[in-house]
Amino acid sequence: MDIKKTILPDDKLKPLYQDPLKLVFGRTFTDYMFTMEHTAEKGWHNAEIKPYQSLMLDPAANVLHYSQEVFEGQKAYKSPKDEILLFRPQENARRINHSLKRMCMPEIPEEIFLQAEGELVKLEERWIPRAVGASLYIRPAVISTEAALGVKPADRYLFFIILSPVGPYFQEGFNPVGLWVSDSYTRAAQGGTGEAKTGGNYAGTLLASKIAKDKGCSQVLWLDAVEHKYIEEVGAMNIFFIIDNKLVTPKLSGSILQGITRKSVLQIAEDLGIVPEEKQISIDELIEGIKNKKVTEAFGAGTAAVISPVGRISYKDKVYIISQETGPWAKRFFDTLTGIQYGEKEDKYGWVYKVQ
Ligand SMILES: *Cc1c(COP(=O)(O)O)cnc(C)c1O
Repeated sequence: MDIKKTILPDDKLKPLYQDPLKLVFGRTFTDYMFTMEHTAEKGWHNAEIKPYQSLMLDPAANVLHYSQEVFEGQKAYKSPKDEILLFRPQENARRINHSLKRMCMPEIPEEIFLQAEGELVKLEERWIPRAVGASLYIRPAVISTEAALGVKPADRYLFFIILSPVGPYFQEGFNPVGLWVSDSYTRAAQGGTGEAKTGGNYAGTLLASKIAKDKGCSQVLWLDAVEHKYIEEVGAMNIFFIIDNKLVTPKLSGSILQGITRKSVLQIAEDLGIVPEEKQISIDELIEGIKNKKVTEAFGAGTAAVISPVGRISYKDKVYIISQETGPWAKRFFDTLTGIQYGEKEDKYGWVYKVQ
């Protein structure tokens, strides 16, 4: 595929950030973006890398009313040898197509997805922080752009990719956070869109997230939508527990997002010396396990934070403390994954993708 490029003169480029470790997530954007259009007649066409700019959308554009949208979240890293590294981007290419199919949108050939983000990241190399902990966040998204208020799949789409340099997720250090378990709000139901990375899934969780914050917790731990009994995930992260010295995570249920970090944690577990187990875990079982000290650790796993230690669970107005400090397994998984991502540890699984 030929990507048309509109390049700015050097004096029109944005000034680079001062301290990459102080970058707040998703506030700074680079000089360029990738766009590509889709129509029924032409398929995907008009691939372009051009200066970062606002989109022109008709106010009747389908996405603004009915949320026919999907996205991805990835990171580019600088290795000690100054290479540009992506982490398992083929998995994101596969997942965006899984989401697109679910949302009745046209799929993107995997090689085109990889070429588009590869060329954009390469052009924006100067924005990739060299500091460990910082990285260049990649946000691909597809939206329906047809101006029509009827509820139906649109006949026009836009695929775009924007880039945002980000600092470490934990500005105050790698400390355990609290999760609030909602026994009334739910994120996703069987048969719904929970397994797709689609915008509407997130809008619906904002109210419960606000309640979680009011209760002093950083995020919501979601339960299943039918019985409010089984643990699902955290909404931007999948959840793991160390129970009886086993690594336990909820089995994919159809309403849990299939995280690439989740998959990677499960894949490296045995090599790190712990047995992984995917199973249904009820909230009662978890609380019982915390009480009798069988649950020794909990942590979230997702691209943004990589591993996020969880120290306490609030459920039905009681707080259950797992640990005041970050546990050894959270540290081990964090160090191993980030070591591979930054090209500092041996990539024995073949997960690192070099952008040439
Ligand atoms: C993106 C996301 C995750 C984490 O997925 P990764 O591929 O590990 O970044 C988990 N849950 C939800 C709902 C998500 O959107």
